[in-house]
Amino acid sequence: MAGDGLDRARRSFLRGRPAAGPAPIHPPWSRPDSLTALCTRCGACADACAEAILIPGDGGYPEVDFTRGECIFCGACADACAEVYAGPIFDRTAAPWSLRPTIAPSCLAVQRVVCRSCQDACPEGAIRFQPAPFQVGMGGAAHARIDEAACTGCGACVAACPAGAVILTHQSGSPAHAD
Ligand code: SF4
Ligand code: SF4
Repeated sequence: MAGDGLDRARRSFLRGRPAAGPAPIHPPWSRPDSLTALCTRCGACADACAEAILIPGDGGYPEVDFTRGECIFCGACADACAEVYAGPIFDRTAAPWSLRPTIAPSCLAVQRVVCRSCQDACPEGAIRFQPAPFQVGMGGAAHARIDEAACTGCGACVAACPAGAVILTHQSGSPAHAD
């Protein structure tokens, strides 16, 4: 139904990923294969989340909604799951995830409007603005650049962006969050 498609697109946009995005963003350290196979959708992880960023996603499986805030990597979601379900849904020995942001063309800085909201919100100092190559008629607008080594994928930049231009996606080849 067309309405359902629009709703799905809007939900996806608000969660910081494109409507046709490859993979939902599940809680940190969760293994996507184990999650869909073993998760009972009890909601214990969402109830435990200190930042209240976990919501029921597609199929009722927990997903991260970065419009609500950032992940502080406290591990409460994984601990709560371990208490009610002692299975391998979460793997705390691995990296929490491989999320990294990209900046969409709707970025205000790209539109030559002064904005540093994502840079100001980043707790890791992973966003820097650099002058873009001069273009006739465009002047020298500054564009956001992500230091992927410094970025933790916490998502603080997502809600901070007034243009909804920050999109988090799993890096390709991630073993824990394969697309
Ligand atoms: S690590 Fe903490 S802040 Fe991040 S999703 Fe889990 S409970 Fe929430
Ligand atoms: S995801 Fe977190 S660490 Fe990475 S650029 Fe955004 S705010 Fe900074």
